[in-house]
Amino acid sequence: MDYQVGDIVKLKKPHPCGSHEWEILRVGADFRLKCTGCGHQVMLARKLVEKNTRGLKKKEEG
Ligand SMILES: [Zn+2]
Repeated sequence: MDYQVGDIVKLKKPHPCGSHEWEILRVGADFRLKCTGCGHQVMLARKLVEKNTRGLKKKEEG
């Protein structure tokens, strides 16, 4: 999966606020993600993100 800053990743487990979608703020060995529902930010290991990814919406270009 080609994760890039600004993409929206959909994870299997919902955040307590009910949203499955997270904006990618930083990529690397750990990702920083922001919940699109409530704005909460988390750090997650890349392996965990990959394991839990259901879909990826690429940042709109242009
Ligand atoms: Zn949330």
